[in-house]
Amino acid sequence: MAARQEKKLSEERKHQNMQNGTKASQGQWGRAWEVDWFSLASILFLLTFAPLIVYYFIMSCAQYQCSLTAPLLDLLTGNKHLSDIWNRTPTLTYRAAGIYSLWVTFQVVLYMSFPDFCHKFLPGYVGGVQEGAVTPAGVVNKYQINGLQAWIITHVLWFANASFLHLFSPTIIFDNWIPLLWCANILGYAVSTFAMIKGYFFPTNAKDCKFTGNFFYDYMMGIEFNPRIGKWFDFKLFFNGRPGIVAWTLINLSFAAKQQELHGEVTNSMILVNVLQGIYVLDFFWNEAWYLKTIDICHDHFGWYLGWGDCVWLPYLYTLQGLYLVYHPVQLCTAHALGVLVLGLLGYYIFRATNHQKDLFRRTNGNCRIWGRRPEYIECSYTSVDGTRYHSKLMTSGFWGWARHFNYTGDLMGSLAYCLACGFEHLLPYFYITYMAILLIHRCLRDEHRCSSKYGKDWKRYTAAVPYRLLPGVF
Ligand code: NDP
Repeated sequence: MAARQEKKLSEERKHQNMQNGTKASQGQWGRAWEVDWFSLASILFLLTFAPLIVYYFIMSCAQYQCSLTAPLLDLLTGNKHLSDIWNRTPTLTYRAAGIYSLWVTFQVVLYMSFPDFCHKFLPGYVGGVQEGAVTPAGVVNKYQINGLQAWIITHVLWFANASFLHLFSPTIIFDNWIPLLWCANILGYAVSTFAMIKGYFFPTNAKDCKFTGNFFYDYMMGIEFNPRIGKWFDFKLFFNGRPGIVAWTLINLSFAAKQQELHGEVTNSMILVNVLQGIYVLDFFWNEAWYLKTIDICHDHFGWYLGWGDCVWLPYLYTLQGLYLVYHPVQLCTAHALGVLVLGLLGYYIFRATNHQKDLFRRTNGNCRIWGRRPEYIECSYTSVDGTRYHSKLMTSGFWGWARHFNYTGDLMGSLAYCLACGFEHLLPYFYITYMAILLIHRCLRDEHRCSSKYGKDWKRYTAAVPYRLLPGVF
């Protein structure tokens, strides 16, 4: 079997690297070949606690008005037992299972059956069939980029329903929030398990599989690089973007509808959260082709981290601000609201402009203008598994001359704005900025480790030219 042969080859490669005493040899970018104890401990921690963390946050809103400390205090003082909390938690319902199945099926149909039309009439939008980056095995995959179209169709139908069709209530998502959580978990675990089995027995590209020999690591970080069913159903592109990110804006709209129903108004904080996160989501789909060049698609393998994360973690934890505002309808004073808006828009501008600069630079191979000038860069090279030598460039001007990950800095500013929109009464809405800070700092380190393995001494020249990661002069 191709996968078994590749598994053997993986072992041999691992052995060779150890003998050579270098990890900077061919094809060594992408996720690790070996698992150190720290990675293993982190993975076991996440596999065990991430589902509990999601449950804890959602339960504390449903049962404790979004207080994160009250459930713990109740448990510690013996006021309540775990079973009391669990017994008050809504179970899986046929209705939720029906809604969720319809939702996922609808997104699969939009993804598979409707080739992109938007690029034919939207100036500047890149959609339709696009190529991804070169994989470590030297493969270039093709993708059908039609996320913007799926997002527009879904939202037009949502608004048509809310305005005149009235087939279901716009509060449907909020009203089934916990039963839907069980459905999302079932899909998340099913797809991650399927991806693992597929990696062993029928991988899409055996040469792009990685086996560490550690079951938990392989399950979490994935074996296959780009698992597909047929020519076009790409797991990473589908699960990363839909159903989770398309749902993000619908979930927020459903929370706004619930706030209106319960409190008779939609607060300015809820509008800010809907608008700022809406811009972020729309930006994601407008730039879906660019997304093919980000770490998720270019480097991460598809396992539980992406599969479960996209189905459960993202739609449930990225939307905590909206959920919180249903329970606590915060009306901000004008200065506070304006401050949140400016911070959110500035963060978005930095995030987008930085990403755009790199994309333009890479697409034109440096033949472009950044801030009115020819970009400065460092020439670098790397080798793929089959021994082919490739050349690349690392930009050292524009925002990329300020810091090595200034796009993350903009993202963090936007994330902070969502949280600040919720006021200062509770900790729960601040989970997002805490999580994003950990995620993006960890991502910085992970990416730099990989780039260092990939580019070797060229990476050292780059870090000498651009010494800071996120904040010039600080970190
Ligand atoms: P980047 O877009 O920064 O991509 C990093 C890659 O870019 C590197 O691996 C390297 O790839 C290349 N690169 C690094 N430095 C340079 C340079 N100076 N010039 C040219 N190319 C360079 O990171 P991500 O893919 O992680 O993030 C993309 C965006 O998505 C970010 O803005 C981030 O904030 C956002 N994001 C949001 C998340 C969320 O949950 N909201 C989660 C993750 C990301 P190569 O091997 O090609 O050289």
